[in-house]
Amino acid sequence: MIKQTPFKVFIVLLTCLASGAAVSQTRIEIPFPDIGEYKTVTADLHMHTVFSDGKVWPTVRVKEAWRNGLDIISITDHLEYLPYKDDVLPKFNRPYEIARSEADKMGLMLIHGAEITRDEPHGHFNAIFLSDCLPLDTPNQKDAVKAAFDQGAFLWWNHPEWKRKDGKAWCEIQQEYLDLGWMHGLEVINGNSYYVNAHQWALDHNLTLMANTDVHDPIDEVYDYASGEHRTMTLIFAKEPTQEAVKEALLQRRTVAFGMNMLIGREEWLRPLIEKSIVVENPDIRLAGKTPAYVALRNGCAASFDLKLEEHTGGITATENLSVPAGKTVAMRVQGDGNTPQGAAPVELTYAVTNALLAPGTPLKIKFALNASFSQ
Ligand SMILES: [Zn+2]
Ligand SMILES: [Zn+2]
Repeated sequence: MIKQTPFKVFIVLLTCLASGAAVSQTRIEIPFPDIGEYKTVTADLHMHTVFSDGKVWPTVRVKEAWRNGLDIISITDHLEYLPYKDDVLPKFNRPYEIARSEADKMGLMLIHGAEITRDEPHGHFNAIFLSDCLPLDTPNQKDAVKAAFDQGAFLWWNHPEWKRKDGKAWCEIQQEYLDLGWMHGLEVINGNSYYVNAHQWALDHNLTLMANTDVHDPIDEVYDYASGEHRTMTLIFAKEPTQEAVKEALLQRRTVAFGMNMLIGREEWLRPLIEKSIVVENPDIRLAGKTPAYVALRNGCAASFDLKLEEHTGGITATENLSVPAGKTVAMRVQGDGNTPQGAAPVELTYAVTNALLAPGTPLKIKFALNASFSQ
């Protein structure tokens, strides 16, 4: 028998109390369909901790991301802006090193990153897939970006219109990085800001569309998860869930930006993503005289859609404005438009998805094909 001292008993008691008090972690799901051979994964690749000007420890970012349903994160602390450096030593690789074992335990992919933080017109660039942040800590801004590029980093311009909103933020330095192949992407959504000119620049210059939180505070202070809000994120279409495959997908621009109740992407990815998400449950309808019928639209994904009727053919019309919330089914009212034929006929409704953008001000349009049988 082992004799325990009162101190040891006290320690055991404390441990029991601590483990008994823990609240189990709950992860929400963020369902999106896979596209072709690619798996759809969710990523937030821009966030801060106390190692720069964030308010939380690196492991907290991992747990937040897991609870929020993310698959991939990168902690990208500033290399140059370190307001807590008297309390937290400026060790640029430590956020990644500290968070890595927690991420492994939670099954979350953690990508090594940093934010190169220089004054305008250069602005801030994120570099991920780094092996060592230290060579990026150099006085010359161009040397810092080159050091990241030389490590094989994926690089993008953060919040391009944060300081300058007149459409002229794209300057010589961005053009130079583009020409050198040192800039791969642009943030079109940063937190709760959408950058309309940056969206166009990304299309004009064939850059990857990115959306990230750039969160500094605890995530629950920024996004209202209790009411179903999601944090801003990038959907990535990767061949497999590995860092190499995610990097390949980013370099090949296989992304959709998701945030602020918007999806922003190239048609190649946005169309199948939405067409696979909204399913017409009952495409065969019977229309008798002026009596309407209802078509059930089931939205199986994590994004809500705002639909606006653009065109109707085949003798029917339908609900003009329709909101299809995430994970819900809505009834679309359909009725004859006055030019109704008799008997069976294929009919088509074209809706603009007003919160799914192919370009600034250009929503994706989708069609619902129905089989109608008309009678008096
Ligand atoms: Zn920044
Ligand atoms: Zn940042």
